[in-house]
Amino acid sequence: MNLTTGYPYWLINSGLVATYPKLEKSVKTDIVIIGGGISGALAAYYLVDAGYRCIVVDARTIGLGSTCASTSLLQYELDKPLSVLSEQIGFQSASRAYRMCSEAIDKIESISEKINFNLFERQNSVYFAAFKKDNELLKSEFEYRKKAGFQVQLLDESEIKYRFGFTAPSAILSAQGASTDAYLFTHALLQYSLKKGLEVFDRTEVTQIEYKKNGAVIKLGNGFTIDTNKIVNASGYEISEFIDKKIVKLTSTYAIASESIQSHVPVWKDSALLWNTADPYLYLRLTTDNRVIVGGRDEEFSGTVRRDRLIKKKSAMLKNDFSKLFPEIELIPEFSWTGTFGSTKDALPYIGTYSKTPHTFYALGFGGNGITFSLTAAEIICDMISGKANKDVLLYSFSR
Ligand SMILES: Cc1cc2nc3c(=O)[nH]c(=O)nc-3n(C[C@H](O)[C@H](O)[C@H](O)COP(=O)(O)OP(=O)(O)OC[C@H]3O[C@@H](n4cnc5c(N)ncnc54)[C@H](O)[C@@H]3O)c2cc1C
Repeated sequence: MNLTTGYPYWLINSGLVATYPKLEKSVKTDIVIIGGGISGALAAYYLVDAGYRCIVVDARTIGLGSTCASTSLLQYELDKPLSVLSEQIGFQSASRAYRMCSEAIDKIESISEKINFNLFERQNSVYFAAFKKDNELLKSEFEYRKKAGFQVQLLDESEIKYRFGFTAPSAILSAQGASTDAYLFTHALLQYSLKKGLEVFDRTEVTQIEYKKNGAVIKLGNGFTIDTNKIVNASGYEISEFIDKKIVKLTSTYAIASESIQSHVPVWKDSALLWNTADPYLYLRLTTDNRVIVGGRDEEFSGTVRRDRLIKKKSAMLKNDFSKLFPEIELIPEFSWTGTFGSTKDALPYIGTYSKTPHTFYALGFGGNGITFSLTAAEIICDMISGKANKDVLLYSFSR
């Protein structure tokens, strides 16, 4: 399945930034990481740093899964409000999941600095009511966030207009937020780890896994094999090829990047990350070359043909959504794309082991916080493989 179609801005902007070979012989290693998107790249970064001999294999060219389609907002705020998630899994667990996403942003910043990757930018995040009826939800959400220790402010209509230049009935302003470029970050992580001994092979598909007592034999599409002690599965939305448990509901999502707006002042005040309470939600960010990225208008996934046919219509809708917020700015979409996106019942990722597949650790960061979840997955899996206790394993486990 094509995970993305159209012209994802990040891919157009950077093109092919590095080339990796195919694996064309049978080899042995400590750990095979299946998937070279942001999840596989972060897992490789942690594991190589911990001293393991690792090989990354990807069926596609590196980064051309969901990662190149990502709009790369980094938010601690999950697809499910803290107040709603607390009802579902309890306040303690829900606030821990929020806290971990927040910490993941800080850790992504530290890693970016360490590997000299300079496309990480801190931003405020504004979660605004799409409709007046959502004011109550935001009020309750604000109380939950405060109780969980987040630095938040509840803004009314006039404060939103004054501080950010658009109109909405109310909003929660959070100091914690950032943006990046997941596609380039993935390459930067892999390039850094290559220097520390990682091996990366793309256009190398895993077609079968034979589990043994002390490891596994991975069979590749070209007939070669990899003998490994452990596997990290970071295959993203194609996970159904590997496990029989249905854990993710697929959605088609849409995004546009506008022409660069020639202005000496930010397109909107504060250049904050903006997203709203609609279902599906609308979200906006700016790029370093002053383009507006608008995303949302999700649809239940019913095949790539229908998903792709809707790109033009959805782009027009996203442009219109932007115009309603900022009627004085003329937005001209230059690039439009669609991607497959997945959500779980509790908006949390699946990380760790699955009873039917021994020696295997899953890094499945689904949802709108996919990138921060990838960081959390890498950290937890590295602890599990190293035999270190990690108190958060249960929160994201397959048996929850
Ligand atoms: C339009 C869009 C916008 C998004 N915006 C955001 C955002 O703003 N913030 C955010 O945090 N997240 C966002 N996400 C989600 C985020 O992009 C994803 O969670 C993240 O990119 C997933 O990375 P991954 O490495 O897990 O998956 P992928 O990038 O899909 O990588 C998995 C890789 O596994 C490989 N693979 C699969 N099967 C095999 C096999 N059998 N053998 C070998 N290799 C295999 C694939 O080829 C693929 O490259 C967005 C997603 C989309 C589509």
